[in-house]
Amino acid sequence: MATMAAGQCAIHPGRIEVITGPMFSGKSEELIRRLKRAQIAKRRVACFKPDLDVRYHRTAIASHSAQTLDALTVANMEELKSVLMPMVDAVEVVGIDEAQFFDATLISLSNELVQLGKRIIIAGLDTTFTGEPFAPMPELLAIADEVVKLSAVCMQCGAPAVHTQRLGSSQSLVLVGAAGVYEARCRACFRPWADEHGSEQMELPVAAADRC
Ligand SMILES: [Zn+2]
Repeated sequence: MATMAAGQCAIHPGRIEVITGPMFSGKSEELIRRLKRAQIAKRRVACFKPDLDVRYHRTAIASHSAQTLDALTVANMEELKSVLMPMVDAVEVVGIDEAQFFDATLISLSNELVQLGKRIIIAGLDTTFTGEPFAPMPELLAIADEVVKLSAVCMQCGAPAVHTQRLGSSQSLVLVGAAGVYEARCRACFRPWADEHGSEQMELPVAAADRC
């Protein structure tokens, strides 16, 4: 890194905010709320989302409660960088939705942007439907200035929900959907390896199956 010339002002560092929690916890809604407030404050905002999220709009981020905000849809981190970097000087706030679907270079990009004085607001699922950390969210949580961990409402019992329950048989981590495919569940109601309808959500590990 180049040393700073005498008299040159240091760039004031930016800020990394991460909004996380299970599905149906209002992450996109909170991201949109923050980005809209930044726009009201006349900040120049750019928002990105992965191409995988086709559930509502291709060029906007959408929350389950029908709030939307214009977003640039990109296939991967490489495309995100190729779109963002040419305009990075003109952008003050960078929003990223469904961050769990981007690869680990989002971590280094966030570090780079924060050193350029940008405010980065990232929303994403903290765990998979098997209850494990959903990369790259764990590292983003670790480097954040602020972490907002939202809970949903357990669709079985009404308690605060921290898990995303997959209903049905797909093992794909990137299947994106809404009501009917996933449910928010509390720890007590969460069934990471088999849902309550008896379908084969995931194969049980061999050792565990042998004991049955
Ligand atoms: Zn419950």
